Amino acid sequence: MLDGLAHLLFPAVCILCQKPLDKNEEHICAGCFDDFNPFPGAFAGGMALQSTVRDHFDEHAVPSAAWCLYPYRSSSTLHKAMHSMKYGSLFPLGELFGKRLGELILRSGDQVAFDAIVPVPLHHLKRIERTYNQAEAIAGGMAGVLGLPVVTECLDRSLYTSTQTGLGIEARRENMAGAFRPGRKRSPARVLLVDDVLTTGATMVAAAKALKAAGAVEVAFATIAVTEKEA
Ligand SMILES: [Zn+2]
Repeated sequence: MLDGLAHLLFPAVCILCQKPLDKNEEHICAGCFDDFNPFPGAFAGGMALQSTVRDHFDEHAVPSAAWCLYPYRSSSTLHKAMHSMKYGSLFPLGELFGKRLGELILRSGDQVAFDAIVPVPLHHLKRIERTYNQAEAIAGGMAGVLGLPVVTECLDRSLYTSTQTGLGIEARRENMAGAFRPGRKRSPARVLLVDDVLTTGATMVAAAKALKAAGAVEVAFATIAVTEKEA
């Protein structure tokens, strides 16, 4: 009742198009979600992610399973939303995207194949700078949908890497190699590793390697978006 009144007096609007939101919409309206131009299905998104990793790394680095919601272009509405999530402290957005990613995995029926969700960690100094880790927010949204625990103690970020934006593949690889190490707890065997955007795969490949050193047997990748290949 009070919620309804507040909604009447201060209608919530879509953060992207500023249109008033429907009761069942949060932060982003259905129309803007459609504008993000999702992959036509779980298979297509997973294939796009795996193919990007394959372009930059050996076959053994390609995850056996992968999920991804959207192709990513700079200057798209998705880019604007992801940027708000990362730097604009719009913490609930990560959870919202995480729920969608969780639903995608749930529809594919593969959530039973995993023991835990592990978000790609930020170095603790970067965490202070940004106040939160967007991958953790995404993992939180997925966890509720999939009924899986989020585990963070099995993976640490050892290096304070500068931003990857604008770096070529060689520089990215060097920037990331050795950036992660096993955490203080042993990794669950079957892990869903989560990040916001996969560009070349350098971050997730390096994180997966450390997870395997921590005891993981299988590491699947799940991201909100994968950067589109240049034509
Ligand atoms: Zn909108």
